[in-house]
Amino acid sequence: MLNFNPSEETVEIINGLKRFIDKVVIPLEDENSELLYNERNYYLENGKRHPKVEELRKKVRMESAKAGFYNMFGAQELGGEELGPVTSLLVQEAIGKNYPNRKLIETVVIPSPFTNGLTPVLNGLKQELKDQYLEGIRTGEKTLCFGLTEPDAGSDVWGIKTKAVKDGNEWVINGTKQWITNSPYADYCMLFAVTNPDMQASRKGGITCFFVDTKSEGFDVDSVVPVMGEIGGDAGIISIENLRVPEENIIGELDNGFSRAMNGINNGRLGMSGKCIGYAQWALKQAVDYANIRQTFGKKIGEHQTIQNMLADCAMDIYAARNMALHCAWKIENSKKQPTKEISMVKAYCTEMMGRVYDKVIQIHGGMGLSNELKLEAGYRLARTLRIPDGTSEIHRRTIARRLLKGDLSFN
Ligand SMILES: Cc1cc2nc3c(=O)[nH]c(=O)nc-3n(C[C@H](O)[C@H](O)[C@H](O)COP(=O)(O)OP(=O)(O)OC[C@H]3O[C@@H](n4cnc5c(N)ncnc54)[C@H](O)[C@@H]3O)c2cc1C
Repeated sequence: MLNFNPSEETVEIINGLKRFIDKVVIPLEDENSELLYNERNYYLENGKRHPKVEELRKKVRMESAKAGFYNMFGAQELGGEELGPVTSLLVQEAIGKNYPNRKLIETVVIPSPFTNGLTPVLNGLKQELKDQYLEGIRTGEKTLCFGLTEPDAGSDVWGIKTKAVKDGNEWVINGTKQWITNSPYADYCMLFAVTNPDMQASRKGGITCFFVDTKSEGFDVDSVVPVMGEIGGDAGIISIENLRVPEENIIGELDNGFSRAMNGINNGRLGMSGKCIGYAQWALKQAVDYANIRQTFGKKIGEHQTIQNMLADCAMDIYAARNMALHCAWKIENSKKQPTKEISMVKAYCTEMMGRVYDKVIQIHGGMGLSNELKLEAGYRLARTLRIPDGTSEIHRRTIARRLLKGDLSFN
């Protein structure tokens, strides 16, 4: 029999997480609202977050780790609980639906999947390095970034130019990385570099993942890239100049860094989809409430058919997105095989769905929809952003079409 109810365990986790956020995080946000919700205080002149914001983020991470939430999706091999994709999707949905646009919640209470925290990429660390570094990452004291994209290589990741050359027992690395989330604040970087240009040219390998302390000489985050109307940001540009990294800091195998990079990326895509589904539900609720109050031409706007159509379109979109994402998460959980086509459909659909829903919800609010006060414009900007990282919508369509053309026409 089909069962669409979340397990009791998942419901308990979500309720516990909400209690933790309400008791620990929201009061901290309220006490610091002038710092957190005024961009001029939140960011420094150079676009980095204010050190006091960083302190608060660290405090929340560490409290969340103590309360058992920070590592619940972290790799089991590294001490995380590795809860499955269905729970991950529903937890991200709950965060988006109940706490949208909160500065100390998203990617703080639970780290970004696979690019921070106990990411499965770190399964490939040598035991000695695990002993040295994992405790700080597990407690939330230290954070990571994932350095793959470059100014000339984004979708086409095989085109990276950052090079590592062997010198004795060390690798000397030179290059530039761009768009690296959390790099201005991270303690460690999972850095990708070409170690064998011939293998790289045949697109069969030749790229290696290194574990780098961001305080190392030759590793500099030059600037922050502000995105979509913000005066600062989370993503940075990294200059790497004669950075020396010991051989033992290779994560996994030499020349086989991409299998590392892909390890866990699908969980990231599903988590992002869950967030979109949650945000969209929150936005629709705002629209419904407004449509029941706002009056024009002597009646509530919810009585105008055009407004009703927009509400109904949002509901259809959310329902479709939520069920396709849940089905995909269930498929991953029960088959152990990565359903590539479905993950691409879910990531592209859910991020685009969030944009469509926010667009209509802003329209339903009229002028108020554009005001900063209601946070609809912030969600709209976020939705627009999410169509690019973790694979653009076009790259996901390419993946879907390629699978179809190879005969994968299954929708089970
Ligand atoms: C907010 C944000 C955070 C990010 N965080 C990280 C991070 O932490 N670490 C990291 O390594 N990277 C990160 N990235 C980089 C991200 O993965 C890339 O931006 C993304 O892969 C797209 O690459 P690009 O920007 O170079 O665009 P390009 O690859 O140059 O693409 C340009 C356009 O061409 C389209 N296109 C490209 N190739 C094809 C094709 N074959 N068929 C059809 N259309 C195509 C794209 O869809 C896009 O519309 C982040 C990006 C953003 C915006």
